[in-house]
Amino acid sequence: MLDVRGLQKVYEGRERRVEAVRDLTFSLEAGELACLVGPSGCGKTTLLKCVAGLLAPTSGEVRLNGRPVDGPPPGMAVVFQEYGRSLFAWMNVYDNVELPLRQKRMPKARRRELVHDALAAVGLADAHRAYPWQLSGGMQQRVAIARAVAYEPSVLLMDEPFAAVDAQTRADLEDLIRDLWHKLRVTVLFITHDIDEAVYLGQRVLILSSSPTVVQEQLTIDLPDERDQLTTRADPRFTSLRTHVYEQIQAAKRNAGTPQEEAPEVAGSDDTRPDLDRTPA
Ligand code: ADP
Ligand code: MG
Repeated sequence: MLDVRGLQKVYEGRERRVEAVRDLTFSLEAGELACLVGPSGCGKTTLLKCVAGLLAPTSGEVRLNGRPVDGPPPGMAVVFQEYGRSLFAWMNVYDNVELPLRQKRMPKARRRELVHDALAAVGLADAHRAYPWQLSGGMQQRVAIARAVAYEPSVLLMDEPFAAVDAQTRADLEDLIRDLWHKLRVTVLFITHDIDEAVYLGQRVLILSSSPTVVQEQLTIDLPDERDQLTTRADPRFTSLRTHVYEQIQAAKRNAGTPQEEAPEVAGSDDTRPDLDRTPA
């Protein structure tokens, strides 16, 4: 459904040329929940902006349902990290969630239904009239998620959406995402720098190298579909998957700056070498 082929993005500044993303290729199946994990500064947000049609790639392409993405495609919703800046301070919760539906020119009754359902789904059925500044960070991010969900996207992109909320809220929001994904059968690309979060949430984890960025490994997360914060995180399989991802990211950091094909052997061990499409036993 979503195809990213040979994506490269170079920021050409007056003084500096930054190759944020070198060569990214991956695809998402319809209805899949994939997490993309990589160190800070490796180009995750750059990739997301290219996928969302907000930024033109230097080379390579993004296709959604076979069509090249050259501007924000209909049917795609994005939740950014900075919820503080993504909600309109002068609009209450209801109006914030309704706004994109107005732009879809949807009848009022249908809009109301979608806004009510989305706010109920994120546990904010009682907060319609509140303003963003009256809400905690976690609640504001729920509003941003509700807005994305009400839009009924076929693809939901999330860029480190929980990076700024406390641990308990974060755990709740992670479960909320899996819940919504189960209910809505939407395709989700979830970007994070948090390894545990990626393994806990995803059916698949795409591990990115450091900048200039390539997909270092695609890992199938063979944990049961029913996940919960206590049992899943205590599952030995969870531990071994997170350890594997951690090692890959450490290896990626050591190899920073060298393209994958030319990456030097990591001293003293063969098995930490990046290896495409490898699923650990
Ligand atoms: P991440 O989201 O993984 O932290 P980003 O995509 O934000 O990474 O950034 C990747 C690299 O590109 C970084 O080195 C960053 O400084 C650089 N970068 C991001 N945006 C711009 C920009 N608009 N102009 C120049 N360089 C940028
Ligand atoms: Mg980012």
